[in-house]
This record gives sequence, structure tokens and C-alpha cells, in this order.
Amino acid sequence: MATKQTSSSESAHSGNPENARPGNPENARHRRTASRAASLAGDLRGRGRRRRATDKLESGEFALARADGAVADAATMLASRIRAHMAAGHLDITLTDNRYTMLSVRREGECNEARTGPQYRVRLHHMFADATPTVTQALAHYIGKDDKDASKILGDFIDANQHRVRAEASRKGGRLITKGACHDLQDIFDGLNDHYFDGTIDATITWGQKCGKAQRRNSIKMGSYSLEDRSIRIHRSLDKAYIPRFFVEWIVYHEMLHQVHDAPIVNGRRQFHSKAFLEDEAAFEHYALARLWERDHLDQLLTY
Ligand SMILES: [Zn+2]
Repeated sequence: MATKQTSSSESAHSGNPENARPGNPENARHRRTASRAASLAGDLRGRGRRRRATDKLESGEFALARADGAVADAATMLASRIRAHMAAGHLDITLTDNRYTMLSVRREGECNEARTGPQYRVRLHHMFADATPTVTQALAHYIGKDDKDASKILGDFIDANQHRVRAEASRKGGRLITKGACHDLQDIFDGLNDHYFDGTIDATITWGQKCGKAQRRNSIKMGSYSLEDRSIRIHRSLDKAYIPRFFVEWIVYHEMLHQVHDAPIVNGRRQFHSKAFLEDEAAFEHYALARLWERDHLDQLLTY
């Protein structure tokens, strides 16, 4: 769902970017191999704050929501507290652990039949779960009317609660390298994030290790996404002039989708590419072109 653009109005609050990364351990990376298909991913590091005052949608905090039933309860309670200050509309609250977007609102016009008033889909950092009545009221005004004064109150609240924003992970192996010789992964990630995900993908991205002497191989892991530290890694061999940007985008896009989709266990195996995942993947603008290009350049891709 996060890949769909909607015409609804949206707004967002972001936290300060000066957070450190959470010290997450090395973990099972989901890798994408190239002999079959392709993949992708992204990063929002440090630049979340000044995002346009529009948007934000899904993001990577599902683990939090899933793992903790208490989070759902807190969201329900917070929703009823906010609703008390609202005249009309349907409110759908999700609490997140997002590092960059503290608050996002999607306002979807006069909604579905049975309901009256607009539908508000709100994603809030869990710092709001125990907000004071003043802040709760500001939330209602911000959500319902995009109220400027309310926005100020919320901004102050977010600033005062920065310490509750999850620190960024120190990536194993250190520095993130986003600018390659030919492709800038951060730029690609940001473009995709805006276009397909309403800016909500919260991940880092980096080029992988430099390649040694090129030789023909049987496969290539073009991209991978680590669930635990929300990091995307793109194979260094894709940083070549002959590789078109749309192809790198496709790989990155695929990895970004891993943050959006669950990986259900089917017949005892974790299914990373569910039917829904594949449907979303096919929504990539240059999907057919990318697949075709991959097929036509497989030999080159496998020589690295
Ligand atoms: Zn994948």
C-alpha cells in the first residue's frame, strides 16, 4: 500500500536529524540475487527534518507495532483522547518508532459510505502516547485543521522529546558510502522515497565493498536489506557507467519494499517476496524496462 500515491492532503512533522544510530547488531540480511530478478532500497538519514510540509506514509516501524500489543492499546487510547477534541471524521492512529517523521497525517476526503467526515490516517512517534492534554488537543487541531498554532506546540513537544527518538544504528563496517563514481544512491533513494513511499522509508543506504578483479560468476547479490538496522546495501559493481539509473533505481526500490512488506512464513520458509510484494514491485515505473535490461545484460552483470 505504501507504494501508492494518493491525492489526499498530507502533512508531517519530523524530528531533529542529529540522532545517533541505534547500535544494532549484525543481523540476517535479506539478500537479493541477480540471476533471477532484481532488487532495491533506501535511506533517509539526517535529512528528515526539513522535508516538505506534505506527506509521510508507511514506514519501517512495523516490528514495533507487531511485537508489542501494548503499542496497539496505547494507540487506541491516544486516538480516543484526540478524538475528544475533534468535531468529525474517522481517526486511525498508528504509533511508530520512526526516527525522522514524528507525525504524519493523511487526510482522505469525504470517506467511505458509512462514515461521515474525512478520514485521518495518522502516524505518530510513540513519544505522543503519554502526551499532556495540551499536546493532545494540539494534535486534534493539527490533524483536523492543519492549525498553525497547534503545529508550533507539537514542534516544541517534539524538540523537547528528542531524547526519546531512537538513536541511529552504528552500521557495522562504519561509514555509509552513497556517492559512487556513477550513481548517487542517496539521491536515488530520496527520489524513490518521495515518489513511491511518500517519504516514509526510514533506512540507510550504502554501496557495498569494492570489487576485486573481475571474473565471471554465477550470481550477484545486487541489493540487500537488513531488517534490524534498516540498512540497504547495493552491490558495488552496479556503480558503472553502462548501468542505467533506472536499473539501480529498480534495485533500490525493491529493497525499500522490504521495509514495507512483512515476510510471512509459508510452508516453513520465510517468504520475502510475497504476492503483495511482487505486485508492489511491478508498480515501479520502469519495471518492464528494468527486467528486460537485466536479461540483456546478465553476462555483464555477472562479471564483477
Ligand atoms: Zn528482495
